[in-house]
Amino acid sequence: MPVPLFGGGEVNVTIPERSGTAFRLKTGDTLVVVDPRGCQVADLLAFNADDMDEVISSGRTLDYAETIRLTAGHKLYSNRSRVMLDITDDTVGVHDFLLTPCSYDTFHHFYPDLPPHRGCFGNLAAALEPYGVTPDRIPVAFNCFMNVPVDGTTGRLSVLPPISKAGDTITFRAAMDLVIGLTACSAPASNGGSFKPIEYRIEPA
Ligand SMILES: [Zn+2]
Repeated sequence: MPVPLFGGGEVNVTIPERSGTAFRLKTGDTLVVVDPRGCQVADLLAFNADDMDEVISSGRTLDYAETIRLTAGHKLYSNRSRVMLDITDDTVGVHDFLLTPCSYDTFHHFYPDLPPHRGCFGNLAAALEPYGVTPDRIPVAFNCFMNVPVDGTTGRLSVLPPISKAGDTITFRAAMDLVIGLTACSAPASNGGSFKPIEYRIEPA
C-alpha cells in the first residue's frame, strides 16, 4: 500500500519483506529505491519494454565501468551495450552487481537447516511472468545496497550486512522505456539477518 512520505505529493510504494514487484518506467523517468529501515537489499532487473530480449547485463556494465563499485555517475548497460539506466544519485555507495538473485537453490546451498524460500529469483520470476519473462531469462541483478567486498589479492568474496541506514536511497534515470523488476531480498546473510521492506517511487520525466 502506498505510504505518503513527502509533502510534495510524491508517494513511496512499499515492497513487503521477502517479496517483489514489476512495473514500467518510461524514458527519462526517475526511479528512487529507498531502504526505509536500513540494512536491506533490493535486487533490480531491467528489460527493454519494446523488446524483452534486451536485458540488463552485469558483464557489459562492469567491463565499461572498469570497476565493480558502481555509484552515481555510472551507467547500467544492456546485453546489447546500450545504456538502460543512469545512476544519478546514491547516498550509500556500496552495491553489488556480481551475484545472482537468491533462490530455492541458494537456500539449499547456504542455509540447509532453514525453511527454503523462493527468494528474489522466485519473486522476480513471478512478478515478470505477466511480461513474458521466463525464469531462465533472469540474469544477474543489480543488487541495491548489497555489500559484497572482494579481497583484491585472493579474489575471495564475502557477503556482509549492508551499510545502508534508514532512509538511504539510490536513484536511477531510465535511458529507454523499461520493465523493472524489484525485490526486498530474502536471504539472511545479505540483509544482516533480518528481513525488511523496500520502498520505491517514480518521478515522471
Ligand atoms: Zn535476494
